[in-house]
Amino acid sequence: MSFERLAQSLNQKHQAGYLRQRRTVEYEKDAIICVEGQHYLNFASNDYLGMRQQPEVLQAWVEGLAAYGGGSGASPLVTGYSQAHQALETYLAERLNREAVLLFNSGFSANQAVCQALFSEPGLILADKLMHASFLDGAMACEAQLRRFRHNDMSHLASLLAGIQNADCLVASEGIFSMDGDAAPVESLVALCEQQQAWLMLDDAHGFGVLGENGLGSAEHYGLSQQQVPVLMGTFGKAIGTAGAFVAGSRELIEYLVNHARHYIYSTALPPAQAVATLASLRLIASGSERQQLQANIAHFRSLANQAGLLLTDSQSAIQPVIVGDPHKALALSNGLKERGIWVAAIRYPTVPKHTDRLRITLSAQHSERDIQALVDGLILAREALPQCN
Ligand code: PMP
Repeated sequence: MSFERLAQSLNQKHQAGYLRQRRTVEYEKDAIICVEGQHYLNFASNDYLGMRQQPEVLQAWVEGLAAYGGGSGASPLVTGYSQAHQALETYLAERLNREAVLLFNSGFSANQAVCQALFSEPGLILADKLMHASFLDGAMACEAQLRRFRHNDMSHLASLLAGIQNADCLVASEGIFSMDGDAAPVESLVALCEQQQAWLMLDDAHGFGVLGENGLGSAEHYGLSQQQVPVLMGTFGKAIGTAGAFVAGSRELIEYLVNHARHYIYSTALPPAQAVATLASLRLIASGSERQQLQANIAHFRSLANQAGLLLTDSQSAIQPVIVGDPHKALALSNGLKERGIWVAAIRYPTVPKHTDRLRITLSAQHSERDIQALVDGLILAREALPQCN
């Protein structure tokens, strides 16, 4: 058995500048990352608040391990659902003003589960063009027809909604878009869905933990009720600093997922210690100052970058893309930054649309003003090495 076809395909990807390669991280703390013996300032992590290393969160992991052991031992409907999972669900449901919450092992599986479970029968999914791959894959694999509206284009969505008749329709968008960092026009989405009686789903992977008075994300920030956003999804692997995800909504929705979501029913429940640590992180975020520090860092970066004439998008979030438009140039810029001790990921097609290859800079509460200055200086120098870049 030869893998000639696979080798050829990889070679083609390499030639086109789209080959992906992993790097082994040897050490990561306080916005410093060590790879292949070199230390870098890390501007590529989704740990926006530095929660991964917070002593209280680590302590909660340890206590969770002592109380529950390493793993959950089974899928949730067998014996994998513990008091630790239940406590986290209850906390989220109460704070988010939802009737019920269900935990998933990852945001990827939560998104797929929503599509698979809600659409085992025909229906319609209208998704923003820039929805995450996990949602789009789920939407393509289920029985619903998938149609995509232009990114944040409410008149396009309205025209697609106007054509629906008697079909279950789910409209899906993201609180903060993962690769662009901009926000969905949530209030308009709510109004359109109310008019057409469509279910609105918000994937808040990048808003959860960061937005809102207590860090509960877009729902808290915009004051979105269960009625307005009946399917709310969030993840723990980014600002919360652990891993896993949840879906929040009505009792019927959650009971339905418990009974139909194959990703839930047939997968070992996340380790209870992870639920304990996640709850500790959420509590810490609600009472801590990290979110304010992150906002200050975002403002500082944008001001320095503007002064330096770097072309930014209008993202006000921790995700600050610099669009380059060519995969080779994006890689060259990322490598140029590495030579200056700064780690920024080059994000290329197919993760983002063709000709929008970019640097995806992510800011964290852990960065100091000096770190941000070093990033901007590095960007200027790396750009000078590539005069045709913005
Ligand atoms: N949705 C969005 C918008 C994401 O950015 C991600 C992670 N990249 C996911 C879902 C998947 O979440 P997880 O990493 O928990 O699988």
